Amino acid sequence: MADRALSRPSEPDGFEIARRRMVEDQLVARGIRDARVLEVMATAPRHRFVDPSFVPRAYGDHALPTADGQTISQPYIVARMLELAELAPGHRVLELGTGSGYQTLLLARLVERVFSIERVAELQRGARARLDELGVRNVALRHGDGSVGWQEFAPYDRVLVAAAAPWVPEALLAQLADRGVLVIPVGERSIQHLEVWRKTESGRVTHSRHGECRFVPLLGRDAFKETDTR
Ligand code: SAH
Repeated sequence: MADRALSRPSEPDGFEIARRRMVEDQLVARGIRDARVLEVMATAPRHRFVDPSFVPRAYGDHALPTADGQTISQPYIVARMLELAELAPGHRVLELGTGSGYQTLLLARLVERVFSIERVAELQRGARARLDELGVRNVALRHGDGSVGWQEFAPYDRVLVAAAAPWVPEALLAQLADRGVLVIPVGERSIQHLEVWRKTESGRVTHSRHGECRFVPLLGRDAFKETDTR
């Protein structure tokens, strides 16, 4: 199913050149090599996930504001997370921070099933509407605090956290399948490291660091607190 979606010819929308340029100049030029990631980013309509006033800048080399002081991440950082996650068509993926739903759409085209949680109701509703319009069927969205995971559908082959965490929330490791991979920005509110956590077959956990990044904070029970300014 995921592979059919990946190769589905998309309707021309006038942004083909902008997308190709984004892929070449921002992703390939900076070392993104995963062919499936490059392919979905060359076809997914990112302009439909930004505010109408930002459409001309939708494929630019930057994050853009969404509702409630949140952002849709820079294309490169989205590609980097997806590549580090080593996604396969049969995977079941948990995503934290649905936001606009752009990365959710990419995941939906790359894997079997996506479970995505967003803390801001308005964003979650917007993402739902866009994904419905695009005919996406393999995504379950939830409004709430993702720092406690989503026990009902665990375990997950992959977990992607699209917001900055002060540490790795315990529930996310608990809900990760054996041989699973968790990608998460960990650090302070102002700057983080992109980290990859792996569970081995025996359930042992290892981790590695992959460069600096800046995400909006993960706010919740096992994350930053709204009142916390660290
Ligand atoms: N991937 C998104 C960008 C996400 S920005 C996109 O492509 O548009 C990070 C998002 O995480 C924000 O929308 C923010 O509201 C959300 N968020 C922050 N804390 C959260 C939590 N505890 N659970 C779920 N979502 C959270």
